[in-house]
Amino acid sequence: MSIQTNLQSLREHIPTHVQLVCVSKFHSNEVIQEAYDAGERIFGENKVQELCTKFDTLPKDIQWHYIGHLQSNKVKYIVPFVTLIHGVDSFKLLHEIDKSAAKINKKVKCLLQVHIASEETKFGFSADELMEMLQSGSWKSLLNVNICGIMGMATFTDDKNQIRNEFRTLKMLFDKMKSTFFDQNPDFSELSMGMSDDFRIAIEEGSTMVRIGSAVFGVRNY
Ligand SMILES: *Cc1c(COP(=O)(O)O)cnc(C)c1O
Repeated sequence: MSIQTNLQSLREHIPTHVQLVCVSKFHSNEVIQEAYDAGERIFGENKVQELCTKFDTLPKDIQWHYIGHLQSNKVKYIVPFVTLIHGVDSFKLLHEIDKSAAKINKKVKCLLQVHIASEETKFGFSADELMEMLQSGSWKSLLNVNICGIMGMATFTDDKNQIRNEFRTLKMLFDKMKSTFFDQNPDFSELSMGMSDDFRIAIEEGSTMVRIGSAVFGVRNY
């Protein structure tokens, strides 16, 4: 199947209020260009070096989203051009992004990553840690980051009920955060959840942004 065909059938299942982030990690410029030519403009990457190279060589109207684990010492490389950072998983990292953005007078959109899966290995705040961090109020002085919502990954499992429950938990947390801390920020509106295998459930549970790789580009060769 061609990328164009994949995108066409995907688009049938993604309502217009939900943004599609085409996850292009490990894929060549050529295939990204194919998706671009089919009309896609939002691409997601999870390695800083790879993202910077692709930014340099691909069309400049692409909106690049950073979806991986981000190390503090690499923040400065992507801050100048990145549209949205999905995986902010510590206050330290948020602070680092703020510092880097302040130097170039930019305000960077960020999503806080929440750990909802049962696996130990995935990064992110727990719901308690997140509430504690927000309660402390120190993030309010970070004027060069714009917290636009949250991001999460469900457990890698065939159990659809578990996946649904995890997404539902994330949506409830999003609503609580919005009413408690962000009711004055209309930009706090993004709930990034759903990948190739679970995006339909995620959309049913309130996702506003799905991050889809293999269903667009096919399997990745690591
Ligand atoms: C790779 C990746 C995706 C895309 O996964 P697919 O299963 O290929 O759709 C989505 N989100 C994150 C954070 C990823 O690292």
